[in-house]
Amino acid sequence: MELSERAQSIPPSITLAISAQVKEMKAAGKEIIAFGAGEPDFDTPEKISQTAVESLLAGNTHYMPSSGTLEAREAIASKLRTENNIDCSEKNISINAGAKMSINLALMSILDSGKNQEVVVPTPAWVSYKPMIELAGGSMVEVPTTVETDFKCTPEELEAAITPNTKAIMLNTPSNPCGTMYSPEELKAIAGMLENHPGVYILSDEIYDRLIYGDIEHFSLGSIPEIKDRVITINGLSKTYAMTGWRIGYACAPENVAKAMNTLQSQLNTCITSFCYDVIPVALGMKDEVEDMRQIFAKRASLMFELIQEWPNVECAQPTGAFYAFPKIAHYFGKTSPEGTEITDAVNFTKALLDETGVAVVPGNDFGGCGPDHVRLSFACSEDQIKEGVNKVGAWLTKF
Ligand code: PMP
Repeated sequence: MELSERAQSIPPSITLAISAQVKEMKAAGKEIIAFGAGEPDFDTPEKISQTAVESLLAGNTHYMPSSGTLEAREAIASKLRTENNIDCSEKNISINAGAKMSINLALMSILDSGKNQEVVVPTPAWVSYKPMIELAGGSMVEVPTTVETDFKCTPEELEAAITPNTKAIMLNTPSNPCGTMYSPEELKAIAGMLENHPGVYILSDEIYDRLIYGDIEHFSLGSIPEIKDRVITINGLSKTYAMTGWRIGYACAPENVAKAMNTLQSQLNTCITSFCYDVIPVALGMKDEVEDMRQIFAKRASLMFELIQEWPNVECAQPTGAFYAFPKIAHYFGKTSPEGTEITDAVNFTKALLDETGVAVVPGNDFGGCGPDHVRLSFACSEDQIKEGVNKVGAWLTKF
């Protein structure tokens, strides 16, 4: 029996092949330093887990309305008003099973199939955007960026990709996989350009808004009055609070979009896990624990960046947000690795690196744009691992 075209259209992830190889090597007793993780290595703060346990024991184990609890929606709206300057109320909030689901539901609420609708996305971009856009019936139009501009595009570059078919643009700041972020001035300039395109939604993925390390302040496009009525801000608890497995994400959207997202959710998965709603106000009220984790990430970010500077013939933008460095390794294409592998692309670069040094990174191919010239390293691991692993890669590169 044939699978649906939809199922067949989704490519398997390259990173899964690398993860499988890492698992095999570990099972065979090899020591591996893995820089692949897309999640914090910390445990969820205890106060959050305790709140969930109490809610569970209090009997919050039944179906909930697809919009969730008023307390949770109000806590999210309050966070967005005070920390992000987004003028919103609980009516704008949809709470979903991870930010991934928030993006899916937002796209399903604004895109139609069969109408050639396009979503403009600067690349390299997070691997799931393209399949999510396509599953919602649209197509992704890439605006390629380069390491020279910290992977950021200008309003002019974005505008050049806008056509009568453009339904939305999608920005992710700070960025996975690039680790860089737009300044408030850059975002205001992009918003200024978008004022000339009133039919275009703006999806702003701000899942890493609290994980920032440089002088650049995080800025939310939804705080700009001229465009706020068509901005859909995506965020969640996964990254900031080390809660990736909990699956709690949210969107702040125009009221009709938030309502549509809740209606879609009511048919797709009803609600998030019922005892997770009580956790949301508690997590969003926590500041010290978040700041402690942020400071640890900040130290790791500069350590990893400094050590990568010592890799020969590699360019790397300084990570200022999220937890990734995205060095360009294309210099090594066409060369032979220390143990004799002909390097042709980032995928076999990654395989040779893993085989010859035991260091696992993610090839940039799935991220689009100039991604195939890069590899991604996550610094969601200890400083000792960063020192040992990044230095091992440097030593390996000097032997080419
Ligand atoms: N957006 C970006 C840019 C991400 O990197 C991720 C997680 N890798 C998500 C959204 C999804 O987050 P969640 O785990 O809450 O679904």
